[in-house]
Amino acid sequence: MTRPDKKSLEVAIVGGGTTGLALAVGLLKRNVNFTIYERAEKFEELGVGIIFTPNAERAMEALDPRVLQSFTNVATHASGGTFSFVDGFGERGEDPQSSVEDFLFELHVEEGYKACRRCDFVDQVVQHIPEENVRFGKWLESVETDDNSGRAILTFQDGERVEADVVIGCDGIRSRVRGSMFGTGPSSPRAQYSHQLGFRGMVPLEKAITALGPEKSASVLMHTGPGAFVLTVPLAGVNAMHIEAFVLDKNEWPEFKADSDSKRYVLPATLDEATDAYTDFGPTVRALVSLLPEKIDKWAVFDMLDAPVPTYARSCVCLAGDSAHASTPNHGGGAGIGMEDALVLAEVLAVLSRRSSFDDFVISEALAVYSEVRYERSQWLVQSSRRTAELFTWKDREYRTDVEEVGQDIIARSHKLWDYDIDAMVTDTLQMLEKRLV
Ligand SMILES: Cc1cc2nc3c(=O)[nH]c(=O)nc-3n(C[C@H](O)[C@H](O)[C@H](O)COP(=O)(O)OP(=O)(O)OC[C@H]3O[C@@H](n4cnc5c(N)ncnc54)[C@H](O)[C@@H]3O)c2cc1C
Repeated sequence: MTRPDKKSLEVAIVGGGTTGLALAVGLLKRNVNFTIYERAEKFEELGVGIIFTPNAERAMEALDPRVLQSFTNVATHASGGTFSFVDGFGERGEDPQSSVEDFLFELHVEEGYKACRRCDFVDQVVQHIPEENVRFGKWLESVETDDNSGRAILTFQDGERVEADVVIGCDGIRSRVRGSMFGTGPSSPRAQYSHQLGFRGMVPLEKAITALGPEKSASVLMHTGPGAFVLTVPLAGVNAMHIEAFVLDKNEWPEFKADSDSKRYVLPATLDEATDAYTDFGPTVRALVSLLPEKIDKWAVFDMLDAPVPTYARSCVCLAGDSAHASTPNHGGGAGIGMEDALVLAEVLAVLSRRSSFDDFVISEALAVYSEVRYERSQWLVQSSRRTAELFTWKDREYRTDVEEVGQDIIARSHKLWDYDIDAMVTDTLQMLEKRLV
């Protein structure tokens, strides 16, 4: 169905998390019309830390240098470029100030390891998005395609219905857009409990230094051990240490009700619960966990490994970021790979919006190109993130004897994520579009 009377493409972005916001700035740069529909009353993110890996930084820059600048304005270089893996279990000594966690191997990021607080990044990036492009308090219920106009119809919980030419579901792990595309039944694509749970928090850097000494508090460290691991990232810019303590969990997580709130991913826990999970670990890990607040939350880590979507696009509706391919956080790459999605989408939508006319076929072909470009790589991240958790927790090897092999495996996986050729991804996208959109 051609839409010759239309002046310009109208894009609806559902969800203003890191993926939706980055996409919005990328569309502004390319003069593509869009509206963000966000269920919250304002853009908000947690105060916990986030790492953006080098591939993510390159995608941010290509989206719009202001996206990258939003990160670098608030990012801290954590420990030069080194990320060391240590044995947090068989540690030698009893005093965490002097005890020694054996060094196993290290990852090296040439550009340095950069991290920030999530809320600081979001505060920066939203400054580039005009108010008139955003509608808050809009909780999407469903999306369908109108058989007559060929356009998408978005229905919100408050009863409002709006139309758009293209809908991008950036609505996270429990995506309503995904539900509308593929259903919500027990055999539909969805995020499931990965049997990994986490306790995380930010503690004042001084407190960490008092407990662990200056050296351990200044480095990005992965403290590995059987069944659990702890990541520590010092954020000197905000005088804090970000701690993520993860445990592999044999139990099931309480199931969600269809209409329940996403907070069910997070359940209240006690510090005792966290410390109990690490009783057999060395003094450094025990000291780190004891630094977490008395009242603490435990986070269920869900991913889409076992029930993936078959494609990211159907007709004029598509998925990006966690809604498409939620992964466990073990590569520190979920938000970063969402930046790559946003870049491909921004390029695809820019090509569409420059056309003098567009119809359902052209839109669906263009979004199919997006899906084809992004599917394999982002599904790999879902799989590899799970696998790295097994490696971090010494699952199926005599870790100490196979340490070199494990190290090589983790290094190779990390470089596959970081060294991705972002320019080639854009070139491939544009070439595929040229062939398909005759
Ligand atoms: C413990 C942990 C640590 C992590 N660490 C890192 C890291 O260091 N680096 C990294 O790259 N990644 C990391 N990740 C992954 C990263 O957090 C996610 O990949 C990223 O936040 C996904 O962003 P998103 O915008 O796609 O989704 P979200 O951040 O979930 O945003 C979705 C948005 O959509 C809105 N929304 C939801 N439903 C609706 C609806 N029905 N209607 C309207 N709006 C809606 C929400 O309010 C929200 O604003 C980590 C994940 C976890 C769990």
